[in-house]
Amino acid sequence: MKCVICGYVVDKHFTSEGRVNWTKGHNAQPVKDGLCCTICNNTVVIPARLKLME
Ligand SMILES: [Zn+2]
Repeated sequence: MKCVICGYVVDKHFTSEGRVNWTKGHNAQPVKDGLCCTICNNTVVIPARLKLME
């Protein structure tokens, strides 16, 4: 699965035991339809959401 914003593979989230517990990425709304990686979520999606709230 790829990030809809940067096109890179969406990162997996691991538990403290090293098991994958989340591979679905983050909702990229309102920037794009689909899922994005953690980096895009933090740098693109969250700022866009904050702007919408202004
Ligand atoms: Zn991304």
